[in-house]
Amino acid sequence: MMIAENLKKVKATLNPGVKLVAVSKFHPIAALRQAYDEGQRMFGESHVQEVLIKQQALPEDVEWHFIGHLQTNKVKQLVPFVSLIHSVDSMKLLREIDKQAQKCGRVVDVLLQIHVAAEETKFGFAPEEAMQLLQQDEWRELKHVHITGLMAMATNTEDERQVECEFEQVHQLFETMKNRFFANDATFNQLSMGMSGDYLLAQKHGSTMVRVGSLIFGERNYGSER
Ligand SMILES: *Cc1c(COP(=O)(O)O)cnc(C)c1O
Repeated sequence: MMIAENLKKVKATLNPGVKLVAVSKFHPIAALRQAYDEGQRMFGESHVQEVLIKQQALPEDVEWHFIGHLQTNKVKQLVPFVSLIHSVDSMKLLREIDKQAQKCGRVVDVLLQIHVAAEETKFGFAPEEAMQLLQQDEWRELKHVHITGLMAMATNTEDERQVECEFEQVHQLFETMKNRFFANDATFNQLSMGMSGDYLLAQKHGSTMVRVGSLIFGERNYGSER
């Protein structure tokens, strides 16, 4: 019951049009099913082995979002069913997704992950690296991968001004890229920003997709991650 109530509460705080990715990593299939029964369809996972198991167990109409660091050798397993990969952090990974997607006759939607947080542990392109990637034309030749926006995480801090500043930085980058590289592509329209602790701030700065885990499913029982 808790999950259903939590989900309702979170949804009630979302701006119109903002999508909710329920981050279900490390939570059991029964927990996902409760959210599913409440109508939730987008689930976020960060480990390939785990999402493979859950994908088998849940109905076909779930949209699986991959939000964790992705190694190129695991792309092949993910590409047949994934809806959106939020965490593209290298040209090499983009090429591999394209290659595997071509093999299964798909075009896979991805976001470029932008690193703006103060922590060194977070993956992603520096803003200028992401600009450079788009300035070179190679990505345009990858016909089986489709860049639909950006993803970012803010620093894990109580300092809301810093968090807002980082979100706004990514928002500005997103607008710049949209005008410069996607003027003729209305599908470059997703800005994935905001987690349980900061999604309300992310919404203030243009987020179109929030990734909320613990507020819906409770605390995760595991060691490290963040
Ligand atoms: C785990 C995770 C989340 C969700 O975190 P919560 O604080 O539980 O909401 C969001 N985004 C990414 C990339 C994550 O790894």
